[in-house]
Amino acid sequence: MHKRITKQSFYRYLKCPSWIAYDASGEVRDNPLRSRVQDDALIQEQERAILVSRKSVEIDEVSEDAAVAKTLEFMQQGVQSIYGGVLMHGNWVARPDLFERVSGKSHFGDYYYVACDIKRSRHLKDEYCVQGAFYAEVLRHTQGMKPKQGYIMRPDGTVEAYVLDDFLTKFRLALDGIERILEGIHEPHFLTSDCKQSPWFDKCKAETVASDHLSRMNRIWRSEVSALNDAGITTVAQLAAQHADKLAHRVHGVTAERLQFLVLGAKALVDGKPVILGTIDVPKTDDALIVDIEADPLRDLHYLFGVLDVHGKSEEFHTFLAKQQSEEKAAWDAFVAFMESRPGIPVYHYGWYEQDVFKLMAQRHGAPEGFVDDLAERSVDVLERLREAVIFPLSFYSLKDIAQFLGFRWRHDDASGLNSVLWYEDWLRTGNREMLDDVIRYNEDDVRATWLVRNWAKGRTSS
Ligand code: SF4
Repeated sequence: MHKRITKQSFYRYLKCPSWIAYDASGEVRDNPLRSRVQDDALIQEQERAILVSRKSVEIDEVSEDAAVAKTLEFMQQGVQSIYGGVLMHGNWVARPDLFERVSGKSHFGDYYYVACDIKRSRHLKDEYCVQGAFYAEVLRHTQGMKPKQGYIMRPDGTVEAYVLDDFLTKFRLALDGIERILEGIHEPHFLTSDCKQSPWFDKCKAETVASDHLSRMNRIWRSEVSALNDAGITTVAQLAAQHADKLAHRVHGVTAERLQFLVLGAKALVDGKPVILGTIDVPKTDDALIVDIEADPLRDLHYLFGVLDVHGKSEEFHTFLAKQQSEEKAAWDAFVAFMESRPGIPVYHYGWYEQDVFKLMAQRHGAPEGFVDDLAERSVDVLERLREAVIFPLSFYSLKDIAQFLGFRWRHDDASGLNSVLWYEDWLRTGNREMLDDVIRYNEDDVRATWLVRNWAKGRTSS
């Protein structure tokens, strides 16, 4: 069993504890690009471009031992900024994007090093800070001085600091968990939407379904599962057989209303049929613009704005495409002009992501005054409308899960957001047009799937 602990161990543990155990078993189900996407990292050429002004020295040794030796050599010399450095302590391997020299005392002299990761997200996520706490521990062993702050660099080069001690408990809990798993102690399954990040998800979901564990239910909390377990209910089938009214005095800490909802959810799963709770609120007009955006997080690039323009019986798919990084603004401007040419038409999308991108693109590239507010007013988030009124017999409510349940089929067998990033990266690297066409087809299928779900929802009401 492979017992190294790296920054990925923490990300993986926090998303799916068993990921560590499956990986350690030896079978490889990952690739470096996919790991970078999951880790919110950028592609290396992008990172180097951000670091140009810092004049960081780069460690490009092929072997890990040589990279560690070179990192230590640079640190002893007091080099200001080290990109791609590696430090080790026992089976811990710390490889942040940057080590930066700051003033203070350490084994090296009147200076010490702090670690910084380059992340695309504009939010400071806990998992980044847990990784930072890990680097700090390795630095403490190397330089005899533990940094107090960790750092995250954004794609625009700005740096955000955080206090490492605030994440110490989370780090220690995660480290204990990782070490237990590496010793062969397994944690029980609990299905959440984070599980989809794991390359082992299919294997695990099959086990969870086979055991009929309560975490099969969409958005059920761990505390609710424990409360149900305490009342002797451990499977979805058992929950489905309950009378919600009688459950209230047996299950503590869960409201009667919530129990009613959970029993309905369990029944939906057992029967394989959706339960409609009320009228699904979508616009009555069948004129619509259905929007889906593809991004390459490795480059902080939004390269495809796909729109299905529905007018009466006609449906036309339009793409506003950046075939390379420098074309993002042109694609956005063309998209803006198109949307302005269709005033007042409802704008459908699935989930909150599109609205966030509209704001980001308007900040980055500009937009006519009131454009983003107008899109927000016209916006119909199909997922939000469904959540208010339907319980599906599904563990997850992603577009793929719901549209496939309703009969939609994507043309590409491997269609997924993650794969579309890998296809686009392939296109940039090789110029293979097939790859770009795959992304466009995937985007078109997404908007058509969204439209199919909306059409299913329109006018549907509880009986
Ligand atoms: S349920 Fe499965 S995929 Fe989810 S966290 Fe647990 S082991 Fe991982």
